[in-house]
Amino acid sequence: MVLRNIRENADMKWPEFGYARAQTLDDLWALRGASSGEARLIAGGQSLLAALAFRLSQPDQLIDISGLEALRGISETATHLRLGALTRHVDLQRDPLVARHAPLLAEAAPLIAHPAIRNRGTLGGSLAYADPAAELPACMLALEATIVALSPRGERRIAAQDFFLGLFETALAEDELISAVEVPRQQAGHRVAILEVARRSGDYAMAGLACRITLDGAQISQARLVYFGVDSRAVLAERASAALVGARLGESDAALASALAALTHDLDPPDDLHGPGAMKRHLAGVLTGRALRRFRDNEKGAA
Ligand code: FAD
Repeated sequence: MVLRNIRENADMKWPEFGYARAQTLDDLWALRGASSGEARLIAGGQSLLAALAFRLSQPDQLIDISGLEALRGISETATHLRLGALTRHVDLQRDPLVARHAPLLAEAAPLIAHPAIRNRGTLGGSLAYADPAAELPACMLALEATIVALSPRGERRIAAQDFFLGLFETALAEDELISAVEVPRQQAGHRVAILEVARRSGDYAMAGLACRITLDGAQISQARLVYFGVDSRAVLAERASAALVGARLGESDAALASALAALTHDLDPPDDLHGPGAMKRHLAGVLTGRALRRFRDNEKGAA
């Protein structure tokens, strides 16, 4: 393990903190155990360093996990795609296994920030940070993914639905980290889409939708509409999703009307920096219509 001390000086925005680089999991457990105050993990640093600069977080030590082999790699099983926590956003964008088995993640990655951030930011970091406007937590809900949490006590699997508890809050225990994510492989009837409205390309979304529908012939047999940027965490809109089930994709206007009516019960967006909650609710409806039309047009194109 490598230890250093980052000193505060007049030119630095950050508070003073120690820095240690874990080379192995045993290193990590030892460093965490030895920490006297609040130690924070750092992976890509793309959210944490900004939080430190604004002094929103004042850890006494950063433990760098970016060298841990145990958190790397993308592999497939018969049913799942396993993505190590250190999988970067750019890897999601380019990896052929992701394109084949979890195309929603490949579509989501280019919506995240800018290339420089995507080259460093990690899947585990994004999920642990749990920003309510982030794309990847919403994708995890839409895809029914499982988050693998690791600690000296062993592994624990947490359904995405139970992982995101609130604003920047997750179900991870103090001594746990995310080691990987397991995503069910895309099935023949699955159709996925992610759409958002942002002020500028690369900004966090004002409102977004990550969704997966399941087609049985031309009929929707399951739907998972997940909205982000509209509440303190990504929201699975259960009533609006249920309103789509049984509809035929080619005749989805009536189903869309029912889904939009149901959405008013699923979402109650608060006002925020982007604007009033009513605007976000409106945007969520617009995105739902766009997603359904895209699914319908793609099916027509494929016929
Ligand atoms: P870090 O910054 O290293 O860590 C973030 C937090 O997660 C820290 O609390 C850290 O302790 C914890 N952590 C990291 N890894 C783990 C782990 N394996 N287990 C447990 N805890 C862990 N994100 C979006 O989703 N959409 C955007 O549009 C977007 N725009 C951005 C624009 C800018 C200008 C910037 C600076 C960032 C933006 N981001 C956006 C955030 C970016 O995606 C980050 O990369 C990501 O949120 C965090 O990943 P990271 O690896 O950099 O995490």
